[in-house]
Amino acid sequence: MKKDTKKIKTLYIVVPCYNEEEVLNETTKRLEEKMKKLVKSNKISDDSRVMYVNDGSKDKTWELIEKISKEHKYFTGICLSRNRGHQNALLAGLMTAKEYADVVISMDADLQDDINAVDEMLEKYYDGCDIVYGVRSARKKDSWFKKHTAQAFYKFMKKMGVDIVYNHADYRLTSKRVLNNFADYKEVNLFLRGIFPLIGYKSDVVYYERSERFAGESKYPLKKMLNFAWDGITSFSVKPIRLLLTFGIIIFIVSMLVTLYCIIAKLTGNTIAGWTFLACSIWIMGGIQMISLGIIGEYIGKTYSETKRRPRYVISRNLKEEENEKDN
Ligand code: UDP
Ligand code: MG
Repeated sequence: MKKDTKKIKTLYIVVPCYNEEEVLNETTKRLEEKMKKLVKSNKISDDSRVMYVNDGSKDKTWELIEKISKEHKYFTGICLSRNRGHQNALLAGLMTAKEYADVVISMDADLQDDINAVDEMLEKYYDGCDIVYGVRSARKKDSWFKKHTAQAFYKFMKKMGVDIVYNHADYRLTSKRVLNNFADYKEVNLFLRGIFPLIGYKSDVVYYERSERFAGESKYPLKKMLNFAWDGITSFSVKPIRLLLTFGIIIFIVSMLVTLYCIIAKLTGNTIAGWTFLACSIWIMGGIQMISLGIIGEYIGKTYSETKRRPRYVISRNLKEEENEKDN
């Protein structure tokens, strides 16, 4: 530990929750144990908290969060006005937590991310890292399908020119100053794991084994996963547009060859009515043009939503703030 970092820091653990009533009690039990241990060993200050973010749950999640934060010292929560999705809930939590904390860790409510990696993350933080990425070393417990789609996703993103940490999701430690910088990234189409590598500073990774969700079911069905991947690519990369250009050039070259072939066929007198050729050309070109328009449209759509600069979340309640107000 460095001398100038001797002051014990305040840690906030941000946990987005969407319909997680089945897991919250167990999560609270395990996180409380961890927090107590960390405080006792002077790794974090006594003001440290776990901040649950209720992402417009339809079940009793928020009631549970309120109850937990009343009964347990190290817990607090905020409530979004409606469901905005994991990334926005996480954003709301990070932006709120940074006001109270020196360092923030984000993790999922189902504790698929091993909470014991927190110790190592903190160690690296005290050693001077501003961002510590939690990276899955094994996916033994994930289904075959989840494992392979997820890994294909990371590879595809890399190919598409998006700089992300392989097998890192949103289990991550960030210092206050990283979050302050992160606040300047005003995009609406959020893909957090792509933004943090852009911010810079000294970073490191911590490996952990991803375990099974211990209760409830995944809130990330295939459809949401595909949407998420699509957002990641179109918010971070212009490669699809460049591919279009390559595509266009190839088609142009091919069309030259086809023209040449047509001229030769004409000169040797082999031409017939040519209906098949014409019909095929029209269909193929129509298809290509539609795809191109679709991709360009996607970018225009993104530009559109970015220029509107709508607030990305609305916090309806903040238990920490309420607690502070009561104290004053
Ligand atoms: N989540 C959220 N809002 C949503 C969907 C999910 O806050 O609209 C939270 C969820 O409560 C969990 C985390 O995001 O804490 C990850 O979701 P999940 O574990 O279902 O995803 P998986 O691990 O299956 O990818
Ligand atoms: Mg999960």
